[in-house]
Amino acid sequence: MSFLSFLTAACLVLPAASVRAAEEVAVIVSGKPSSPATSFKIGSELYLEAKRAGSIYGGQVYWYPVSGRVLLTVRGRTMQFVVDSDKAAAGNQTFTLPAPVRVRASRAFLPISFLISEPFGRWSGYDARYDAGTRTLEVERRTTVGPVRAFSYKGRTRLALSLAPGASYQAVAHGVGAVEVSLPYGVVEGDDRVDVDDGIVDSYAVKQESSRARLSIRFAEKGLRWRAAELSDPRRLVVDVYGPGGEPGDETPAPRAVETKPASSTAPAPVSVTAPTAPPAVAQAQKPRRRIVVIDPGHGGKDPGAIGTRGTYEKTVNLAVALELAKVLRERGDMDVVLTREDDVFVPLSDRSAKANDLEADIFVSLHCNAHRNRRENGFEVYSVSETASDPAAEELAAAENAALKLEGKRPEDELAKQVLLAMTKTEMVNESPQLAVFAERGIAKRAEVDDRGAKQAGFYVLRGTHAAAILVEMAFLSHPKDEAKLGSRRFRRKVAEGVAAGIADYARKKGWLD
Ligand SMILES: [Zn+2]
Repeated sequence: MSFLSFLTAACLVLPAASVRAAEEVAVIVSGKPSSPATSFKIGSELYLEAKRAGSIYGGQVYWYPVSGRVLLTVRGRTMQFVVDSDKAAAGNQTFTLPAPVRVRASRAFLPISFLISEPFGRWSGYDARYDAGTRTLEVERRTTVGPVRAFSYKGRTRLALSLAPGASYQAVAHGVGAVEVSLPYGVVEGDDRVDVDDGIVDSYAVKQESSRARLSIRFAEKGLRWRAAELSDPRRLVVDVYGPGGEPGDETPAPRAVETKPASSTAPAPVSVTAPTAPPAVAQAQKPRRRIVVIDPGHGGKDPGAIGTRGTYEKTVNLAVALELAKVLRERGDMDVVLTREDDVFVPLSDRSAKANDLEADIFVSLHCNAHRNRRENGFEVYSVSETASDPAAEELAAAENAALKLEGKRPEDELAKQVLLAMTKTEMVNESPQLAVFAERGIAKRAEVDDRGAKQAGFYVLRGTHAAAILVEMAFLSHPKDEAKLGSRRFRRKVAEGVAAGIADYARKKGWLD
């Protein structure tokens, strides 16, 4: 190449090389924050460097500059891209990309829009979503089996495992103290181990192997009877393990979950300041009534709550976890579930507790995300109501969460004074709420990967107004980058919901509600 033609070539290359490192993208793989990726803007399209994209999928990228080919290998299969082309091939399948593969500064780039597309998801076995608002790329294995949920009943524990259409399974005894369920070609979300510890089932574990998924259930003692059955709508495998003396077939079927009231009624209701009437003593002899859980996703509408460093709105996370928690409890089916809001709407604090009181709810769970000016603060905590906060930080937090009162045009002091009167009428519940808080704290700590800051007490307005055993869960810190990434992950949100549900079940069992 002559010097002149070299110069010409260099000039041609230079403008194209001006790829703009657009912004950092948070990456969450199977619920765990991974190191962030740099995204690049080429034209109007957002790209990831092919090498980084490959590593996100646990795969590998080979880039051949001379032939202009880019090979992406994921789970032993290879997709071939051609530079500047919007066509790709894998085996005898061809794909059309929303934007062509690009090379800049001798690095290859793949458009994010292709990575999150359905055809790529089907090929790779991974679901990917990109949230432009929070600049978060979330990648999860496409599952065909799971999640597993454990339900403890009197004398029986049920493990339910969701099955995709076509998924097959085989359940066999493993010695006298365990059941092994093998799922050929099954894909689970990830390895998992949960201590059920209810006196019947000790624990269960889910494991991904190369050509199958496996669910192992360990009994609390040897020789327990068990039975596996397939149920439909949605398709799932249930394994029932019976406590000593329990026999298959003697249980009453779990009642269907029904809503007692439309959930998103936002009509203002006055706060009742009268003492709840004591139930007549004869009620003891009657069939126990179904218990009611009110789930309260904090904030909403014009009140976003805390806002994360990447722009995550607390109100959005709270609602997502609330809907998941409602789903888990309704699957359990032994308590009624009502939400204080099911959409992005503003609901005054007093309406939330009034709703619980109108329904004579037994349990009230308010879901929130924490935030702190110190960005190193992280973890979750569970609060129950008290007249005096357990520490100055708890008091400060309660003041922040009570700030929504200002959006209602109320002076917090007036309302709080009124609430003291109400709080004194429910001394019994004040005493019981800390117990519920501890159960919920243990439930979350067992399941979700997040630091445990403990069960505490503080004067949250929304809790004071309720007659139910009431807790407020601060799920993690939106002001902490890793916590914020977790709060954006579906898997983490599900784990928190399952933890709270387990805490509610433990509390209900302790109260004898589920007998
Ligand atoms: Zn909040």
